[in-house]
Amino acid sequence: MKILCIGRNYKEHVRELNSPLPSEPVFFLKPETSLLTGDKPFELPAFSEMVHYEVELVIRISKTGKNIPEKEAAGYYDAITVGLDFTARDIQEQCKKKGLPWLISKGFDQSAPLAEFVPKNRFPDTRSIGFHLDLNGKTVQRATSAEMIFPFESVISYISRFITLQPGDVIYTGTPSGVGPVKSGDLLEAYLGNNKLLTCPIK
Ligand code: MG
Repeated sequence: MKILCIGRNYKEHVRELNSPLPSEPVFFLKPETSLLTGDKPFELPAFSEMVHYEVELVIRISKTGKNIPEKEAAGYYDAITVGLDFTARDIQEQCKKKGLPWLISKGFDQSAPLAEFVPKNRFPDTRSIGFHLDLNGKTVQRATSAEMIFPFESVISYISRFITLQPGDVIYTGTPSGVGPVKSGDLLEAYLGNNKLLTCPIK
């Protein structure tokens, strides 16, 4: 399976990182070894001084597709959940300055905590799914899918122009504003609507 991630998909977050607003989706891959499931603790990597949390809506691809038209894209995913796109922000800034790929800042082990998926048919409107992240009991990020620059269907259609999507692939669809650093002893809790789906203690 592939872990695809969209960057710069919420205007306020693009501003907080001083990045330009994208005219097309920006995406990257994490390897399967970055997955962290079952609410297991996240171990801070030794190579970074600044790991940031990024809570994101995540969709699961349900059938194989290439060059998927946007108007058909809703038929290519069957479940939604929340996940964290842990980012070694210090390393990412160095990569950006040098014009290098982001891989080591985004694709390290355990950098993709993922909650259990919820079937898509449980959501009356996929364009207004609320989600939020609490850090040590205080909400630090909150948004709805309506705020995405590129909604689920555009993201699926765009990625499939370049890379064949396959059942089981997951797409992290970007983070809203409010990202920030974690330290040892912190507790992250991610909610879809009012349901807590993901707990991630930081070691
Ligand atoms: Mg992200």
